[in-house]
Amino acid sequence: MPWFNSSIAAIIPYFPKWMVKPFAKPYVAGIADDEALQIVQQLNKKGYAVTLDILGEYVNSQEEAENIRNAYSGLIQKIAAGGLNSTISVKLTHLGLALDPQLGENNILTLARDGRDNDVGITIDMENSPFTSLTFDIYKKALAIHHRMGTVIQAYLYRSLEDIKALDSPFLNLRICKGIYKEPPEIAIQDRRTINDNFVEMARSLLNGSGYACLATHDLTLIDRLEALIEAEHIPSDRFEFQVLYGVPMGNRLEELKAKGYTVRVYVPFGEAWFEYSVRRLKENPQIISYVMGNWFKK
Ligand SMILES: Cc1cc2nc3c(=O)[nH]c(=O)nc-3n(C[C@H](O)[C@H](O)[C@H](O)COP(=O)(O)OP(=O)(O)OC[C@H]3O[C@@H](n4cnc5c(N)ncnc54)[C@H](O)[C@@H]3O)c2cc1C
Repeated sequence: MPWFNSSIAAIIPYFPKWMVKPFAKPYVAGIADDEALQIVQQLNKKGYAVTLDILGEYVNSQEEAENIRNAYSGLIQKIAAGGLNSTISVKLTHLGLALDPQLGENNILTLARDGRDNDVGITIDMENSPFTSLTFDIYKKALAIHHRMGTVIQAYLYRSLEDIKALDSPFLNLRICKGIYKEPPEIAIQDRRTINDNFVEMARSLLNGSGYACLATHDLTLIDRLEALIEAEHIPSDRFEFQVLYGVPMGNRLEELKAKGYTVRVYVPFGEAWFEYSVRRLKENPQIISYVMGNWFKK
């Protein structure tokens, strides 16, 4: 039924929120942080590490940006108090970067201090290309405060291999992903196979240097290639981890990775902005529509 799923996915942004909620459920860990923290506990019990993300980007005021920063500070404290195996993931535009770069920087540096004081890791998500260099500059300042800071590098950007070399540091922690934004051909590879080749070369470069690699993909063929690289180059399992988004179907693959002694971290998003996020996920994977509907009729 792919045509049916794709047709529904195309019109879903126009549905009322109550109709979209059942489709959102597999991808979003609720609205309040306590709901999300329960999911973290469940995933931790199954042997998964987690990174928690408060959904949203591009705030409209300093007050809004500071509220998001405070929400993340509260989350850091709850992760530490609960002894949970979770980091947090943050978008700099959610902390005000697009409004005022200094505001975004001040907010993430405050979180870096909170992360350091509570021993909770923080990853700065990567957004679209106008923010790439700025994000790396801010990441370096945050890393000087808290050694458990990470950021993201996108395999579709031509510049990324060079960026890995330029960022080199004993505590470098980079999540490698393909990249989710639409970028022009002048700066970004458009062909999926070449993006995958670049992903593998970036992993090789990071693992041959001193960095820690977070291999974020659901592409099973790419995971095969990354595993082959790790085995061929005898990379110890404390130098890398695999990462996936909460709810994306992976068959048995995550269990298999864990059985090999590899860390698997699940990116768990939650919060008020669940509607926009879920619509994006459904457009990317319309198959989820028949899966959720199938479950309704089984009840
Ligand atoms: C943990 C994590 C963090 C990320 N952080 C960032 C970031 O900071 N910046 C950024 O630009 N991008 C980020 N991404 C997104 C990434 O760049 C890709 O766009 C996304 O992961 C899809 O690429 P893929 O490698 O999974 O391969 P694809 O070939 O695109 O996907 C493989 C298969 O997985 C399934 N699938 C993939 N993604 C989804 C999805 N979202 N929903 C449902 N099914 C899906 C599809 O069935 C698809 O056939 C992140 C991804 C992950 C896993």
